[in-house]
Amino acid sequence: MKTVHFIGAGPGDPELMTLKGQRLIREADIIIYAGSLVNPQVLSGAGQSAEIYDSSSMTLQQVVDVMAAGVRAGKQVVRVHTGDPSIYGAHREQMAELDRLGIPYDVVPGVSSFLAAAASLKREYTLPGVSQTVILTRMEGRTQVPETEQIEGLAAHQATMVLFLSVSQIGLLCQRLQKGGYPADTPAAVVYKASWEDERIVTGTLEDLAERVEQAGIRRTALVTVGRFLGDGFQRSKLYDGAFSHGYRKGCGP
Ligand code: SAH
Repeated sequence: MKTVHFIGAGPGDPELMTLKGQRLIREADIIIYAGSLVNPQVLSGAGQSAEIYDSSSMTLQQVVDVMAAGVRAGKQVVRVHTGDPSIYGAHREQMAELDRLGIPYDVVPGVSSFLAAAASLKREYTLPGVSQTVILTRMEGRTQVPETEQIEGLAAHQATMVLFLSVSQIGLLCQRLQKGGYPADTPAAVVYKASWEDERIVTGTLEDLAERVEQAGIRRTALVTVGRFLGDGFQRSKLYDGAFSHGYRKGCGP
């Protein structure tokens, strides 16, 4: 029986998909992709005869039915998710259904949008002396967030934070982040459509970011990043410090 391949399509720029993902799309007989977020250009390598389904108008059952019928007919099925499927990808429920049906599958990782956002911002999330932790989270919308993961509680760490699926509530979000412990002057940036041709970046602080984002009219397909990693202060790493020895290099003085 053929294996269903879940593929992370990357954040938007088609060149940011893995070689493996590109090959599997080229070889696919059936492609199911999340049309609301995946850049259609990532499918440009698909074969002429490939059947292409946009999952944005389908239910879980319909997606699984297409996969099952395809596999049973000996066809190669790929399921394309935006970024990396493991981050708000809703692919676990599909894998559970495939398990139930005894259909094999594997997962090809992708470049998540939070990584593309750091690249666009030209910033490092984990700066020595600033933060060594990245919190990936979201505000509740129609999907609930567990009580122990409320924004205020996570903000208390003052770690680097990246918020998915939350830019439409930017005003409330910035208030809650401050209530939780980030000072009002904490730098924050919104990256809209990271790596796409119409990418936009809006920067500010927790005090003024919401207004700037609203003025820019950004309401979706954006990440909110928060923390002093966006500032200019940090310590140099030990890894490349000349006075510091490690397994691959002897110290050579300052
Ligand atoms: N699996 C995806 C995330 C899916 S959830 C990943 O790994 O990136 C969808 C949310 O991801 C959007 O609401 C937005 O917050 C974010 N997102 C996806 N692609 C984006 C991009 N290119 N730029 C900025 N944010 C993006």
